[in-house]
Amino acid sequence: MLRSQKLTYSYGDTFSLKPVSLRLNHGEITGIIGHSGSGKSTLLHLLAGLKEPASGQILLNGEPILTPSKKLVPGHEKIKLVTQQNTLFPHISIAENIAYELRYYEKGYQKTRVNALARALNLRPLLGKLPRELSGGEIQRVMIARALADEPLVLLLDEPMANLDRIHKKKIMLSLAEVVRQEQIACAMVTHDIYDAFGMAGRLVIMDRGRILQNATSEDIYFRPRNRYVAELTGEVNEWEAGHFFRPEAVVFSPEGPWEGTVRAVVFQGSHYDIVLDTANGPVSARSEERLENGKRYTFGIRSFIHFD
Ligand code: ADP
Ligand code: MG
Repeated sequence: MLRSQKLTYSYGDTFSLKPVSLRLNHGEITGIIGHSGSGKSTLLHLLAGLKEPASGQILLNGEPILTPSKKLVPGHEKIKLVTQQNTLFPHISIAENIAYELRYYEKGYQKTRVNALARALNLRPLLGKLPRELSGGEIQRVMIARALADEPLVLLLDEPMANLDRIHKKKIMLSLAEVVRQEQIACAMVTHDIYDAFGMAGRLVIMDRGRILQNATSEDIYFRPRNRYVAELTGEVNEWEAGHFFRPEAVVFSPEGPWEGTVRAVVFQGSHYDIVLDTANGPVSARSEERLENGKRYTFGIRSFIHFD
Protein backbone atom coordinates (compact mmCIF):
# COMPACT_ATOMS: atom_id res chain seq x y z
CA MET A 1 0.00 0.00 0.00
CA LEU A 2 1.22 3.48 -0.89
CA ARG A 3 0.32 6.24 1.55
CA SER A 4 1.01 9.91 1.61
CA GLN A 5 0.87 11.73 4.91
CA LYS A 6 0.26 15.46 4.91
CA LEU A 7 2.25 15.91 1.75
CA THR A 8 2.82 19.52 0.67
CA TYR A 9 4.63 21.18 -2.19
CA SER A 10 4.81 24.60 -3.78
CA TYR A 11 6.03 26.31 -6.92
CA GLY A 12 7.02 29.64 -5.40
CA ASP A 13 3.97 31.79 -4.80
CA THR A 14 2.03 30.57 -7.82
CA PHE A 15 0.75 27.22 -6.63
CA SER A 16 0.80 25.09 -3.53
CA LEU A 17 -0.36 21.59 -2.81
CA LYS A 18 -2.22 21.64 0.53
CA PRO A 19 -1.53 18.75 2.91
CA VAL A 20 -2.51 15.63 0.96
CA SER A 21 -3.14 12.40 2.84
CA LEU A 22 -4.08 9.58 0.56
CA ARG A 23 -3.97 5.80 0.31
CA LEU A 24 -3.59 3.62 -2.77
CA ASN A 25 -4.61 0.02 -2.16
CA HIS A 26 -3.04 -2.95 -3.91
CA GLY A 27 -5.12 -4.51 -6.66
CA GLU A 28 -7.21 -1.38 -7.10
CA ILE A 29 -7.27 1.65 -9.39
CA THR A 30 -7.85 5.03 -7.77
CA GLY A 31 -9.06 7.70 -10.18
CA ILE A 32 -7.82 11.26 -9.73
CA ILE A 33 -9.91 13.99 -11.32
CA GLY A 34 -9.86 17.77 -11.25
CA HIS A 35 -9.67 20.76 -13.52
CA SER A 36 -6.43 21.54 -15.29
CA GLY A 37 -4.01 23.16 -12.85
CA SER A 38 -5.50 21.55 -9.74
CA GLY A 39 -2.23 19.78 -8.94
CA LYS A 40 -2.82 16.22 -10.21
CA SER A 41 0.48 15.85 -12.07
CA THR A 42 2.40 17.44 -9.21
CA LEU A 43 0.85 14.94 -6.80
CA LEU A 44 1.79 11.97 -9.02
CA HIS A 45 5.39 13.18 -9.32
CA LEU A 46 5.58 13.46 -5.53
CA LEU A 47 4.11 9.98 -5.07
CA ALA A 48 6.66 8.63 -7.54
CA GLY A 49 9.49 10.13 -5.49
CA LEU A 50 10.41 12.44 -8.36
CA LYS A 51 9.78 15.73 -6.56
CA GLU A 52 10.94 16.82 -3.13
CA PRO A 53 7.95 17.47 -0.85
CA ALA A 54 8.07 20.63 1.28
CA SER A 55 6.74 18.53 4.16
CA GLY A 56 5.02 15.22 4.83
CA GLN A 57 6.07 11.77 3.75
CA ILE A 58 5.28 8.87 1.44
CA LEU A 59 5.18 5.33 2.77
CA LEU A 60 5.36 2.19 0.67
CA ASN A 61 4.11 -0.76 2.71
CA GLY A 62 4.91 1.20 5.84
CA GLU A 63 8.45 2.22 4.83
CA PRO A 64 9.18 5.87 3.99
CA ILE A 65 10.41 6.20 0.42
CA LEU A 66 13.55 8.20 -0.30
CA THR A 67 12.85 11.63 -1.74
CA PRO A 68 15.10 13.12 -4.46
CA SER A 69 17.34 14.95 -1.96
CA LYS A 70 18.28 11.59 -0.45
CA LYS A 71 19.00 9.80 -3.71
CA LEU A 72 21.50 10.01 -6.54
CA VAL A 73 18.86 9.19 -9.12
CA PRO A 74 15.35 10.35 -8.15
CA GLY A 75 12.55 7.81 -8.19
CA HIS A 76 11.81 4.38 -6.76
CA GLU A 77 12.36 1.17 -8.72
CA LYS A 78 9.02 -0.32 -7.65
CA ILE A 79 6.99 2.84 -8.31
CA LYS A 80 6.40 3.60 -12.00
CA LEU A 81 5.00 6.79 -13.46
CA VAL A 82 3.64 6.90 -17.02
CA THR A 83 2.97 10.33 -18.49
CA GLN A 84 1.90 11.33 -21.97
CA GLN A 85 5.48 11.96 -22.92
CA ASN A 86 6.92 9.32 -25.25
CA THR A 87 10.11 8.10 -23.61
CA LEU A 88 10.62 4.95 -25.71
CA PHE A 89 14.02 4.37 -27.28
CA PRO A 90 13.46 5.31 -30.95
CA HIS A 91 15.90 2.92 -32.61
CA ILE A 92 14.91 -0.41 -31.07
CA SER A 93 11.74 -2.44 -31.48
CA ILE A 94 8.76 -2.36 -29.16
CA ALA A 95 9.67 -5.81 -27.81
CA GLU A 96 13.23 -4.62 -27.10
CA ASN A 97 11.93 -1.46 -25.45
CA ILE A 98 9.84 -3.51 -23.02
CA ALA A 99 12.58 -6.10 -22.52
CA TYR A 100 15.07 -3.35 -21.65
CA GLU A 101 13.33 -3.03 -18.28
CA LEU A 102 14.18 -6.70 -17.73
CA ARG A 103 17.80 -6.52 -18.92
CA TYR A 104 19.17 -7.96 -15.64
CA TYR A 105 17.05 -11.10 -15.96
CA GLU A 106 17.78 -14.11 -18.13
CA LYS A 107 16.65 -14.02 -21.76
CA GLY A 108 14.06 -16.78 -21.36
CA TYR A 109 12.25 -14.90 -18.61
CA GLN A 110 12.43 -11.63 -20.57
CA LYS A 111 10.72 -13.27 -23.50
CA THR A 112 7.99 -14.89 -21.41
CA ARG A 113 7.23 -11.65 -19.57
CA VAL A 114 7.16 -9.49 -22.72
CA ASN A 115 4.80 -11.96 -24.39
CA ALA A 116 2.51 -12.13 -21.37
CA LEU A 117 2.24 -8.32 -21.22
CA ALA A 118 1.74 -8.10 -24.99
CA ARG A 119 -1.11 -10.57 -24.70
CA ALA A 120 -2.70 -8.77 -21.76
CA LEU A 121 -2.53 -5.33 -23.37
CA ASN A 122 -3.17 -6.44 -26.94
CA LEU A 123 0.25 -5.45 -28.24
CA ARG A 124 1.30 -8.60 -30.06
CA PRO A 125 1.08 -7.16 -33.59
CA LEU A 126 3.28 -4.24 -32.51
CA LEU A 127 6.20 -6.10 -30.93
CA GLY A 128 8.41 -6.11 -34.05
CA LYS A 129 7.76 -2.47 -34.97
CA LEU A 130 9.73 0.66 -34.19
CA PRO A 131 8.17 3.40 -32.02
CA ARG A 132 7.80 5.77 -34.99
CA GLU A 133 5.57 3.24 -36.74
CA LEU A 134 3.00 3.44 -33.91
CA SER A 135 0.04 5.77 -33.34
CA GLY A 136 -0.16 7.94 -30.22
CA GLY A 137 -2.57 5.53 -28.57
CA GLU A 138 -0.35 2.54 -29.34
CA ILE A 139 2.67 4.31 -27.86
CA GLN A 140 0.70 4.88 -24.67
CA ARG A 141 -0.17 1.20 -24.39
CA VAL A 142 3.47 0.24 -24.89
CA MET A 143 4.51 2.73 -22.20
CA ILE A 144 2.06 1.08 -19.80
CA ALA A 145 3.35 -2.39 -20.70
CA ARG A 146 6.94 -1.24 -20.18
CA ALA A 147 6.06 0.24 -16.79
CA LEU A 148 4.48 -3.07 -15.80
CA ALA A 149 7.40 -5.19 -17.02
CA ASP A 150 9.44 -5.40 -13.83
CA GLU A 151 6.38 -6.03 -11.62
CA PRO A 152 6.04 -2.64 -9.95
CA LEU A 153 4.20 -2.36 -6.64
CA VAL A 154 2.77 0.98 -7.65
CA LEU A 155 1.68 2.24 -11.07
CA LEU A 156 0.91 5.94 -11.52
CA LEU A 157 -0.74 6.97 -14.77
CA ASP A 158 -1.03 10.62 -15.83
CA GLU A 159 -3.85 10.80 -18.41
CA PRO A 160 -2.67 7.64 -20.14
CA MET A 161 -5.72 7.23 -22.35
CA ALA A 162 -5.98 10.77 -23.70
CA ASN A 163 -4.91 9.61 -27.17
CA LEU A 164 -7.23 6.64 -27.42
CA ASP A 165 -10.62 6.43 -29.08
CA ARG A 166 -13.58 5.29 -26.98
CA ILE A 167 -13.82 1.68 -28.10
CA HIS A 168 -10.10 1.05 -27.85
CA LYS A 169 -10.00 2.80 -24.51
CA LYS A 170 -12.64 0.57 -22.98
CA LYS A 171 -10.73 -2.56 -24.03
CA ILE A 172 -7.38 -1.32 -22.76
CA MET A 173 -8.86 -0.14 -19.47
CA LEU A 174 -10.46 -3.50 -18.81
CA SER A 175 -7.20 -5.31 -19.48
CA LEU A 176 -5.30 -2.84 -17.33
CA ALA A 177 -7.75 -3.35 -14.46
CA GLU A 178 -7.25 -7.10 -14.86
CA VAL A 179 -3.44 -6.82 -14.65
CA VAL A 180 -3.69 -4.48 -11.66
CA ARG A 181 -5.93 -6.99 -9.87
CA GLN A 182 -3.91 -10.08 -10.79
CA GLU A 183 -0.53 -8.59 -9.90
CA GLN A 184 -1.92 -6.70 -6.89
CA ILE A 185 -0.55 -3.35 -8.03
CA ALA A 186 -1.55 -0.14 -6.26
CA CYS A 187 -2.61 2.07 -9.16
CA ALA A 188 -3.61 5.72 -9.48
CA MET A 189 -4.88 7.13 -12.75
CA VAL A 190 -5.35 10.80 -13.53
CA THR A 191 -8.06 11.34 -16.09
CA HIS A 192 -10.20 14.23 -17.30
CA ASP A 193 -12.89 11.85 -18.53
CA ILE A 194 -15.29 11.09 -15.70
CA TYR A 195 -16.64 8.04 -17.53
CA ASP A 196 -13.15 6.53 -17.59
CA ALA A 197 -12.94 7.13 -13.88
CA PHE A 198 -16.38 5.66 -13.17
CA GLY A 199 -15.65 2.68 -15.38
CA MET A 200 -12.26 1.88 -13.91
CA ALA A 201 -11.81 3.17 -10.48
CA GLY A 202 -13.22 1.78 -7.28
CA ARG A 203 -12.28 4.99 -5.56
CA LEU A 204 -12.13 8.56 -6.81
CA VAL A 205 -10.12 11.48 -5.54
CA ILE A 206 -11.39 14.90 -6.57
CA MET A 207 -8.84 17.70 -6.62
CA ASP A 208 -9.29 21.45 -6.76
CA ARG A 209 -6.60 24.13 -6.38
CA GLY A 210 -4.10 21.86 -4.69
CA ARG A 211 -6.62 20.26 -2.34
CA ILE A 212 -8.44 16.96 -2.13
CA LEU A 213 -12.10 17.96 -2.09
CA GLN A 214 -13.52 14.48 -1.82
CA ASN A 215 -12.15 10.95 -1.65
CA ALA A 216 -14.84 8.28 -1.88
CA THR A 217 -16.33 5.51 -4.01
CA SER A 218 -17.60 6.43 -7.49
CA GLU A 219 -21.22 6.02 -6.35
CA ASP A 220 -20.75 8.24 -3.31
CA ILE A 221 -19.09 10.91 -5.40
CA TYR A 222 -21.88 10.83 -7.99
CA PHE A 223 -24.87 10.66 -5.66
CA ARG A 224 -23.42 12.52 -2.70
CA PRO A 225 -20.98 15.08 -4.10
CA ARG A 226 -19.65 17.32 -1.35
CA ASN A 227 -20.20 20.55 -3.25
CA ARG A 228 -21.13 22.03 -6.58
CA TYR A 229 -17.61 21.72 -8.03
CA VAL A 230 -17.62 17.96 -7.42
CA ALA A 231 -21.17 17.62 -8.74
CA GLU A 232 -20.36 19.47 -11.96
CA LEU A 233 -17.09 17.64 -12.47
CA THR A 234 -18.79 14.27 -12.25
CA GLY A 235 -21.81 14.82 -14.48
CA GLU A 236 -24.58 17.23 -15.32
CA VAL A 237 -26.53 18.90 -12.54
CA ASN A 238 -29.52 21.21 -12.52
CA GLU A 239 -30.13 23.85 -9.87
CA TRP A 240 -33.86 23.88 -9.16
CA GLU A 241 -34.14 26.36 -6.34
CA ALA A 242 -31.28 27.85 -4.36
CA GLY A 243 -29.40 24.89 -2.86
CA HIS A 244 -31.53 22.18 -4.48
CA PHE A 245 -29.71 20.29 -7.21
CA PHE A 246 -30.58 17.20 -9.21
CA ARG A 247 -29.10 15.01 -11.95
CA PRO A 248 -30.84 14.87 -15.37
CA GLU A 249 -31.88 11.24 -14.82
CA ALA A 250 -33.83 12.24 -11.68
CA VAL A 251 -36.46 13.79 -13.94
CA VAL A 252 -39.49 11.51 -14.42
CA PHE A 253 -41.93 12.45 -17.14
CA SER A 254 -45.44 11.60 -15.96
CA PRO A 255 -48.96 13.01 -16.19
CA GLU A 256 -48.98 13.54 -12.41
CA GLY A 257 -46.30 16.22 -12.66
CA PRO A 258 -46.20 18.24 -10.42
CA TRP A 259 -44.12 20.52 -12.68
CA GLU A 260 -44.17 21.33 -16.33
CA GLY A 261 -41.81 22.46 -19.03
CA THR A 262 -41.52 23.03 -22.76
CA VAL A 263 -39.05 20.93 -24.72
CA ARG A 264 -36.32 23.10 -26.28
CA ALA A 265 -33.91 20.41 -27.49
CA VAL A 266 -33.93 16.68 -28.11
CA VAL A 267 -30.63 14.90 -28.74
CA PHE A 268 -30.58 11.18 -29.58
CA GLN A 269 -27.88 9.39 -27.56
CA GLY A 270 -28.50 5.80 -28.59
CA SER A 271 -29.63 4.40 -25.26
CA HIS A 272 -31.76 7.49 -24.45
CA TYR A 273 -32.54 11.08 -25.45
CA ASP A 274 -30.99 14.14 -23.81
CA ILE A 275 -33.71 16.73 -23.33
CA VAL A 276 -33.57 20.42 -22.50
CA LEU A 277 -36.74 21.83 -20.94
CA ASP A 278 -37.78 25.41 -20.35
CA THR A 279 -39.42 25.60 -16.93
CA ALA A 280 -40.61 28.29 -14.52
CA ASN A 281 -37.32 27.68 -12.65
CA GLY A 282 -35.18 28.06 -15.74
CA PRO A 283 -33.71 25.52 -18.19
CA VAL A 284 -33.52 21.91 -17.03
CA SER A 285 -31.48 19.04 -18.51
CA ALA A 286 -33.41 15.80 -18.47
CA ARG A 287 -33.28 12.34 -19.94
CA SER A 288 -35.96 10.28 -21.61
CA GLU A 289 -36.23 6.77 -23.01
CA GLU A 290 -38.79 7.99 -25.53
CA ARG A 291 -38.43 10.74 -28.09
CA LEU A 292 -40.23 13.86 -26.84
CA GLU A 293 -41.51 16.47 -29.25
CA ASN A 294 -39.67 19.74 -29.59
CA GLY A 295 -41.85 22.72 -28.61
CA LYS A 296 -44.42 20.61 -26.74
CA ARG A 297 -45.26 20.94 -23.04
CA TYR A 298 -44.71 17.97 -20.70
CA THR A 299 -45.33 17.43 -17.00
CA PHE A 300 -42.62 15.90 -14.85
CA GLY A 301 -41.50 15.10 -11.32
CA ILE A 302 -38.04 15.03 -9.72
CA ARG A 303 -37.20 11.73 -8.06
CA SER A 304 -34.29 12.81 -5.89
CA PHE A 305 -32.28 15.88 -5.01
CA ILE A 306 -28.63 16.31 -4.14
CA HIS A 307 -27.88 18.23 -0.96
CA PHE A 308 -24.47 19.60 -0.16
CA ASP A 309 -23.03 19.69 3.37
P1 ADP B 1 -2.72 19.39 -13.26
O1 ADP B 1 -1.91 18.18 -13.58
O2 ADP B 1 -3.85 19.12 -12.33
O3 ADP B 1 -3.20 20.10 -14.49
P2 ADP B 1 -0.21 20.49 -12.29
O4 ADP B 1 0.16 19.66 -11.11
O5 ADP B 1 0.48 20.20 -13.56
O6 ADP B 1 -1.80 20.44 -12.46
O7 ADP B 1 0.03 22.00 -11.94
C1 ADP B 1 -0.52 22.64 -10.81
C2 ADP B 1 -0.17 24.13 -10.84
O8 ADP B 1 1.21 24.30 -10.72
C3 ADP B 1 -0.57 24.82 -12.13
O9 ADP B 1 -1.09 26.07 -11.81
C4 ADP B 1 0.74 24.93 -12.89
O10 ADP B 1 0.71 26.06 -13.71
C5 ADP B 1 1.75 25.05 -11.80
N1 ADP B 1 3.02 24.46 -12.20
C6 ADP B 1 3.21 23.21 -12.69
N2 ADP B 1 4.52 22.97 -12.91
C7 ADP B 1 5.17 24.11 -12.58
C8 ADP B 1 6.55 24.50 -12.57
N3 ADP B 1 7.50 23.66 -12.97
N4 ADP B 1 6.85 25.74 -12.15
C9 ADP B 1 5.89 26.58 -11.73
N5 ADP B 1 4.57 26.28 -11.69
C10 ADP B 1 4.22 25.05 -12.12
MG1 MG C 1 -1.48 17.30 -15.42
